[in-house]
Amino acid sequence: MKKMTTYNTYADAANTAVRAFLTSVGEHYLGETFNTGSGSGKRIWETIKEEFDHRCAYCNKQTTLQIEHLVMFNRTEYGLHHPGNIVPTCQDCNKRQRKKVEISPERVKKVYVNWEGQLKAICKGNETNFNKRKKKIEKSIKKYNYPELSKNEENSIRVMAESLYGLIKQSGDNTNILYKELEKSFVVEKK
Ligand SMILES: [Zn+2]
Repeated sequence: MKKMTTYNTYADAANTAVRAFLTSVGEHYLGETFNTGSGSGKRIWETIKEEFDHRCAYCNKQTTLQIEHLVMFNRTEYGLHHPGNIVPTCQDCNKRQRKKVEISPERVKKVYVNWEGQLKAICKGNETNFNKRKKKIEKSIKKYNYPELSKNEENSIRVMAESLYGLIKQSGDNTNILYKELEKSFVVEKK
């Protein structure tokens, strides 16, 4: 779960639209709505937290828990909002770590690690903890039947998420152009 932003950009709006889309797709596979804030969605989320003994799925701390999407809930990883893709984590562990990847000898890119990489980093080399927690997470993914998408399905979701992001972002940029025109007319009126 993200903190409320106090400074809003069109990119934020585009990201929100992508998450709404990934929520719809998740609900399509689930066969019902999945609002973790009320009704059956809330009950499922409460059950998942209980199954994790009200502890962070990564560091095992018993603390205030947030929703972590194992496959990241964004336009690059297109993880779905679905019970099989969410686990409870503490606030610190909910921030996905990044690693450097060498694209060419001169270029290094920072990319987000997947949930296993995140768990590995948090377990700091303790194999027993890593294996135990990994098993628990995998059990949850399986129990809640996270859909195994075909390459075609994955591709369609990716294309739609990307075009949705582009559309919203473009609308925002267009509004900025209009705003500049508006600013000019304000200046004219002042004279
Ligand atoms: Zn944690």
